[in-house]
Amino acid sequence: MASGWTNDDGVNQQIQDSINDEITRIRNNIPKGISLEFCDECGDSIPEARRTALPGVRLCVPCQEELHETSQKVSIYNRKASKDSQLR
Ligand SMILES: [Zn+2]
Repeated sequence: MASGWTNDDGVNQQIQDSINDEITRIRNNIPKGISLEFCDECGDSIPEARRTALPGVRLCVPCQEELHETSQKVSIYNRKASKDSQLR
C-alpha cells in the first residue's frame, strides 16, 4: 500500500512539473500584466481606458501606430525579398 502512494506522488509531481512548464511558457509569451502609466517611447501619459483594454501596454497610441507601420514595412520588405530569392 505504501509503495502505491509513492507512485501516485511521483505521477502527481510529474503533472505538476508540466503544468509549471506550461505556465512559464504562457507567461513568457504575453506582455507583463502591468500596464505603463506613461509611454515607454515618448513619455506621454497612456489613457486609463487603453491601459485597461491592453494589459501590459507600454506605448501610447501614436507610438504604437508608428511601431505597427514600421513592422508592416519590414514585413512587406521581407516578403519582397523572399519573392526575389524564389525567382532566382
Ligand atoms: Zn508615445
